Amino acid sequence: MSTTPSPRPRRRPDPRCPLRPGEPCTLCQASVTGPQDCGLVYLIMDDPEAREAFAESKRRSS
Ligand code: SF4
Repeated sequence: MSTTPSPRPRRRPDPRCPLRPGEPCTLCQASVTGPQDCGLVYLIMDDPEAREAFAESKRRSS
């Protein structure tokens, strides 16, 4: 009986939702494949005011 060394499990990139820190992307938006094409993330990150408000809400919740 031979034991073959099991290949190291390759770490799958684990897409996290930038809007929900610590949580994985659940593809909650329609027709997205991940945070990279999530319209909501794009909206927030593209709008300095929304981004600041979002950063502020993160500061308050932590
Ligand atoms: S689809 Fe967008 S908002 Fe929804 S969990 Fe994924 S990254 Fe977050």
